[in-house]
Amino acid sequence: MRVVFKNPFCCAGIYWRPAGLLLLAALSGCATQPPAAPLHPLRSTPSALSVVSASPSSFYNPSAVPRDVTHVVGPYETLWRLSKTYEVDMDTLMRVNHLNSPHLKEGQRLVIPSTRGPRAYIPLPNATRWTYIVIHHTATHDGNASSINKIHHQRGFWNGLGYHFLIDNGTDTKGEGQIEIGKRWVEQMDGAHCNADDMNIRGIGISLIGNFSETNVTAKELDSLVYLVKLLMERYRIPYDHVIRHSDVKGKNTECPGLRFPWAEFKRRIASR
Ligand SMILES: [Zn+2]
Repeated sequence: MRVVFKNPFCCAGIYWRPAGLLLLAALSGCATQPPAAPLHPLRSTPSALSVVSASPSSFYNPSAVPRDVTHVVGPYETLWRLSKTYEVDMDTLMRVNHLNSPHLKEGQRLVIPSTRGPRAYIPLPNATRWTYIVIHHTATHDGNASSINKIHHQRGFWNGLGYHFLIDNGTDTKGEGQIEIGKRWVEQMDGAHCNADDMNIRGIGISLIGNFSETNVTAKELDSLVYLVKLLMERYRIPYDHVIRHSDVKGKNTECPGLRFPWAEFKRRIASR
């Protein structure tokens, strides 16, 4: 039996399972105004880069006074990745947190001493498969990679978080505009964010925390989205008209990323140099 699911919100992919199993839908939301143009680390050093450690200027201030922060370990995060994200060496993290082993557990709370982070530490491996970027909202008012990962596991996504990237809105211990990198991106796996038109295979899935059928995208979320999309467009040579909404995908019946998502403004910003 095939189940047709129509969700006014949306997103991590709507699919069905064989007899007796459930239909599993997904997430979605978005809209606001932005300020200064973000940096473009690739512009000066093109395709040789395999990783970029940076964030939009509205989120990360390199001249800010370092401070201690608490970090709640997310899915698949490693001590090594946290040391890069916060620019604090692993030995210091282990000592301050009295860790006997570098292995972390999801949900574990860590003190990060004297940091200006978090700063997105984004791997950019060589790849030719990524030809689209698909924008979503989670259709939740709060959350982070950990909570959305759990939801997606419960919905039957074996590899959890269906998106490659998630942009936070300042809830659930994450910063407004913080970019979280999913396992599917780190391991260059198919997404589970849009099951039509091969978008899980050829599309990079980016979602923002929020329900943008009901509320607006925050300025910092939009800044981070613009920053990330421009970075990926440049790295993978993805054309402007291949940056699409989930609702633009052929065969989808969804509002994702929400009717209040400022699509025209977003497209104008990613077109600018
Ligand atoms: Zn969606």
